[in-house]
Amino acid sequence: MSVPSNPSEIARETLRQLALRRVAPTPDNYRQLYHEIGGTTPEADIPAPFLRRIAARLPRDSAERQRLARDLDQALASDPLSAPAALECYLDNLKDSEAPAWNELIANLLRQWEGRQLGWTMARKREALERVLSASDPSTLHARLQGLLRGWSQAPINPELPAPESPPAAQATSSDGHAAAAPTNAPIPARGGATAGPEPLVETLRGLLLQALRDVIPAFLGGHPELADDALLLAAGLDHALAPDALDRISAQLRRFAHRLEMTAADDAEIRDGLLELLRLLLRNIDELVLDDKWFSGQVEALRELLVTPPNPRLLDDAGRRLKELIYKQSQLKHNMAETQRQLRQMLAGFVDHLARFAESTGIYHDRIGSCAQRIAQAGDINDIAPLLAEVMSETRSMQDETRRSRDELATARAQAQAAQARIEQLQRELDEASRQMRHDQLTGALNRRGLEDMFRGEAARAQRRGSALAVALLDIDNFKRINDAYGHKAGDDALVHLAGIIRQHLRPQDVLARFGGEEFVILLPDTDHNDACQTLVRLQRELTRNFFMADQQKVVITFSAGLTPLAAGESLETTLKRADAAMYDAKRAGRNRVVVAPLPR
Ligand code: GH3
Ligand code: MG
Ligand code: MG
Repeated sequence: MSVPSNPSEIARETLRQLALRRVAPTPDNYRQLYHEIGGTTPEADIPAPFLRRIAARLPRDSAERQRLARDLDQALASDPLSAPAALECYLDNLKDSEAPAWNELIANLLRQWEGRQLGWTMARKREALERVLSASDPSTLHARLQGLLRGWSQAPINPELPAPESPPAAQATSSDGHAAAAPTNAPIPARGGATAGPEPLVETLRGLLLQALRDVIPAFLGGHPELADDALLLAAGLDHALAPDALDRISAQLRRFAHRLEMTAADDAEIRDGLLELLRLLLRNIDELVLDDKWFSGQVEALRELLVTPPNPRLLDDAGRRLKELIYKQSQLKHNMAETQRQLRQMLAGFVDHLARFAESTGIYHDRIGSCAQRIAQAGDINDIAPLLAEVMSETRSMQDETRRSRDELATARAQAQAAQARIEQLQRELDEASRQMRHDQLTGALNRRGLEDMFRGEAARAQRRGSALAVALLDIDNFKRINDAYGHKAGDDALVHLAGIIRQHLRPQDVLARFGGEEFVILLPDTDHNDACQTLVRLQRELTRNFFMADQQKVVITFSAGLTPLAAGESLETTLKRADAAMYDAKRAGRNRVVVAPLPR
């Protein structure tokens, strides 16, 4: 027979045994048999009325507690002896259930009380708290307070309220007992929902991430101030992201930021590699370049200029390619030129040798003829003279041969010298062209910025010296993007070449055309006041409408807007262009395809 375990089974078995054993069902017999069956020892009775009072006050705040309290009520009503056991079952349940963590709850309340939850004014908070505090028993109070704090922690931050003052030198104690400093400016964050306890790992990670965003990442972003600012903004956002949805938002932003960081780092690495390659290229070619200092300083100058503006990979790549071509071309030309010069020198040396030999042989001829003449004068017999004459004739013939040979050699040498001279001139021209490329835009052939700066220096100095006018115009093609979009980038390039060609055709030789950037050009008009300059520009506009550009067998009229301004005394190119640029934008705003003149500043 199995031993009954719960009080009601023991009670039932006790009644059965009383009947089976034919024992009189007195309270004493029942108690004795009950303890025998239940394997318990009889204790002093707890008075039933006292047990009933306890039962009436037991909390019934969960389904389980309600059931256990009902068992106790029933035991008291039908089987008072089983009541103490029923009470113990109830107390066991109380012991098993989690003891409310009041200390944490109060700490959380203090934090949330000072938080800046959207829609939770102080008055509203107080009112809600008072309602919660009216709970009839501690566990209800605990549960309701947890619910309220969960609601507050999940509310979005109200950005209009000032941030709560951060606690002075907040310290967290790690599990090994050492104090760990909280990150600077980081408020102690709320610890999430009702059941979640403190999450030290998450908070430590948040602290580290904040430190990385505030102190570490910006330190690496000197060249990218906008990214550094974004890192600080993200740190501020992360600092306040306590609710789950706010955390979701911030982690999406963090992912985007990380992606941008990756791209920037890749660009930076590309730029660094490009720069190193350029430097290597220059160093490798120094031997070639030192032949002529001007070339060398030109190359170094180009690189120096490139390093002044913030380099981007495309620019560096382009510069590297052009420099490589230029260096190759120059080294070849230099080699050819040196070789041609060496040949010419050799030829001249040979010619001088020859002349010396000729002079020497002429001297010998003179001596020999002189000695023959003397011997003829002294000869007494015609027979003595005949061999002397034969000698004179032979000397003269060999002298004639020598002279003829010398004349021929001289003619050859002269032809060779002329050819070498022509070759040197040709090489010089090619060298000049290679140098010109450093100052000209490859696509349109107009000056590039560097060329413009050189020309401006010269023209501005001349205007200042002579007290003459210099007009400066900035042109920007109208709706150029549409040409690119409609006909492709190559057609856009061709349009730029077309425009530069038309402008050059209709400018005076002394006027200067430079490509300032994408589809912007600068024109310098020496000795021209702004009225005449304006007429020149309007004429250019007219020419462009007459000489349309062909794209995909369609006529495309290119128009431009221009800002025009006279150069003020002692003014830099940059200042003048700024004024021209403002006037150009006025022209755009006024409807495009027009020229606006910006007068001299007062
Ligand atoms: P707006 O009248 O306001 O000047 O209009 P826009 O379309 O000309 O203005 P925007 O300056 O916005 O666009 C200029 C375009 O010129 C953008 C760029 O793609 C294009 N572009 C710049 N340089 C070149 C180039 O060398 N070749 C080609 N094909 N297109 C270029
Ligand atoms: Mg533009
Ligand atoms: Mg434009």
